[in-house]
Amino acid sequence: MNHDNLIKCTRCRHACMESAWLDVPSKKYGGCTEKTCPRCGCKSYYDMTPQVAWCWASGLIEIGNHLPASSLDGSGAILIAEGPRYALKGAIDVAARHGKGASEGKLLVPGIPEAENQKAAIRALYQWLDWNRKCRRGKRDGIVWIEAPSSLGAAL
Ligand SMILES: [Zn+2]
Repeated sequence: MNHDNLIKCTRCRHACMESAWLDVPSKKYGGCTEKTCPRCGCKSYYDMTPQVAWCWASGLIEIGNHLPASSLDGSGAILIAEGPRYALKGAIDVAARHGKGASEGKLLVPGIPEAENQKAAIRALYQWLDWNRKCRRGKRDGIVWIEAPSSLGAAL
């Protein structure tokens, strides 16, 4: 078992691997130990594991450890944002459109589902990413919204 996560103390902001946190006897539960920050003794932390978010041609947004190669129909996933696990989902949740009806429970890039063609969809995507960047959404937590590739310049 080699499972370890990059974490950050919620109190002193010390960042390290989860395995570096100390096992100390719990005051609340006799005989148990709990993980504490090696710097300040705090017990809560942020999960800093790097995650990426991407969208599909339909506008559907997904989050995971790695950008998927391509979907079954051969269309590619477009990288939209990067950031630590504890913050990325929340930032996208606030910025994205929440699907209704058939896409209930799904997150969508605003403007893509109703775009008339691929060019309009791409424009909607990068306008939305620009807007998130201008709002500095999630910046404090290390969220990075991807900028339009310069090769797209003329198309936007
Ligand atoms: Zn700490």
